[in-house]
Amino acid sequence: MTKLSHKAAIFVTLIIILQLVSTTEGDARAQIIKIICGQQKLNKDTEFIPNFVNMTYLLGTQTQRSHNGTASIGTGPDKNFGLAQCYGDLSTEDCILCYAEARNVLPHCYPNNGGRIYLDGCFVRFQNYNFYEEYTGLNDTYVCGNATTKSRAFQDTVTRAISNAVTIALGNDEYFGKEQMLVSGSWNEYVYVLANCWGTLSPSSCRACLANATASISKCLPWSEGRALNTGCFMRYSDTNFHNHVLTTSSASNTGKVIVIVVTFISSVVVVVVGSAIGIYIWQYRYIQKKRKGSFDAEKMVKMLNDNSWNFKYSTLEKATGHWDESNKIGQGGFGTVYKGVLLDGREVAVKRLFFNIKFRAADFYNEVNMISNVEHKNLVRLLGCSCSGRESILVYEYLPNRSLNRFIFDATLGKTLNWEKRFDIITGTAEGLAYLHENRRNRIIHRDIKASNILLDFRFRAKIADFGLARSLQDDKTHISTAIAGTLGYMAPEYLAHGHLTEKADVYSFGILLLEVVTGIENNRKNITTDYTDSLVFTVWKHFKQGTVEEIFDPNLKMHISPNNKFKKEAIRAVHVGLLCIQEAPSLRPCMSRVRKMLTKYDEPLPAPSNPPFIDDKTMELNNMTQKLLNNCDGDESFSVATYSYSHFYPR
Ligand code: ATP
Repeated sequence: MTKLSHKAAIFVTLIIILQLVSTTEGDARAQIIKIICGQQKLNKDTEFIPNFVNMTYLLGTQTQRSHNGTASIGTGPDKNFGLAQCYGDLSTEDCILCYAEARNVLPHCYPNNGGRIYLDGCFVRFQNYNFYEEYTGLNDTYVCGNATTKSRAFQDTVTRAISNAVTIALGNDEYFGKEQMLVSGSWNEYVYVLANCWGTLSPSSCRACLANATASISKCLPWSEGRALNTGCFMRYSDTNFHNHVLTTSSASNTGKVIVIVVTFISSVVVVVVGSAIGIYIWQYRYIQKKRKGSFDAEKMVKMLNDNSWNFKYSTLEKATGHWDESNKIGQGGFGTVYKGVLLDGREVAVKRLFFNIKFRAADFYNEVNMISNVEHKNLVRLLGCSCSGRESILVYEYLPNRSLNRFIFDATLGKTLNWEKRFDIITGTAEGLAYLHENRRNRIIHRDIKASNILLDFRFRAKIADFGLARSLQDDKTHISTAIAGTLGYMAPEYLAHGHLTEKADVYSFGILLLEVVTGIENNRKNITTDYTDSLVFTVWKHFKQGTVEEIFDPNLKMHISPNNKFKKEAIRAVHVGLLCIQEAPSLRPCMSRVRKMLTKYDEPLPAPSNPPFIDDKTMELNNMTQKLLNNCDGDESFSVATYSYSHFYPR
């Protein structure tokens, strides 16, 4: 295929997909109700992961065709069996959306080798054994919603409606039944019920599963909402209409047939150029966009995918990395392997080959492309492009020869390379990059995964923030967003960890931990750490800070550069102080990043006393309101003065 027709095919395909999405009338009901991960760990990454990826791919194609499917891939203990089931009133497009959401989240069970996820519109499960005929198990449960207590008449109607829905479900091949019933004595109050068994069950197993579900969901009465999540079936009742009224089961299959023709046509184009998975994720993002208004711009993505300067051919990257030669491997992250590559024009690049390919972390992949392509700053890694055709997702970045900060500061030998001056430049550079992300008026971005391995170093050891896979954009009118927890333990702010409450101050917290690591050379997330919190980096630093003995915990590699009373010593102690201000338990007390940068560099300015970090049972030091206001003012106010507070007590003699 020529370049032009290739490009045109991508364009046409994506436009058709986007049009299809925009005309979809149903509701994918892609809200997650519950995810249950198995207890058993997988056997071997290298076998399990490809099996999982291929299995989910096959499940996806089956779900597109027929609303449900099973797929098994591999042999031995890491063989993967998967099952997907959309509920009978979902349109084909909504089924695909629901499945895409499930598939995105299910990998959270990794490294366990099994998991199941219930959404309001579909169910997906994977295991390393054949479970297709299971209809009951220890994980069977029910979830009651909305604690409105309903009348006796409502409860009686629920019981009758469930019984009808079960009878309907057992009377058709899809095992799907729904019922809408007027509450007796009322003229406008209805009960809505849905019951669905997985297509792999025998009629008798489906009957038994629905009987179990009926018994458990009835425990939700007199509440207005109940869901039974069983091994072989799903059931829901509600006082609000959640049914997809657009399609009945039979019309769904008719429409399905029409769509299958369209999808088959599209697929034949897509298989060659983009891969059907991109379509799914564009759909998914379009859907999310509809919900979040403007957080993702599908049209922009179409443009980018069509921009040749952005699109690296898979074969180009394969050549650049010597066919993914081990000797070119420069890093291994949780979700990808990074290779050094040299392009034909001699440019050195870093090529991140996403571990789970496009079907796995596609959300993060697009997120990263979308976020980072908009920002440019000397302290942010530049994304040069991506490879999106074929089965893999690959990101291409500028190459940073000294790679990541963690390689140096946590290594006794390499650590010697970084004297205090270099470390100081790294932390101020990182602070500057973060301030740019947070305080950029057009698009405020929270990185969510600030840690030493995401700070890359150029040939002169200047810092650049990398890895925007988890970054989130904060709209102008919002002070925080609620999100599923993602990030790296040890660097996550307590309010985010506990409640998913995400503001820029979560990044400030992670930056504070990073500061302490840079000064001490101690990893906060050490693998050999005991469960005793007094052994933790935060506790240790806090203790020394209060005793005025911060020098004792300096990285031994720094001690030789820092002689008593020199400027470096003062800077390093100040950095610890600022670090502690950044990790204060109360987010409102943490300074914003532009303030942090000034605190680090203007070392004649007095600093306020830090209140306690999280999880430390100590009396919080009191700060006056004035100080808090000053700390929180990030609107470009250059002046910084907290002269009201004595800080000398905290400094070592
Ligand atoms: P996780 O993915 O679990 O957050 P991580 O941040 O270490 O971990 P990656 O972002 O995949 O994972 O990076 C792995 C390593 O590859 C980095 O720590 C770094 O050493 C190296 N690396 C990544 N990007 C570049 C780059 N642009 N230039 C040079 N080295 C890089």
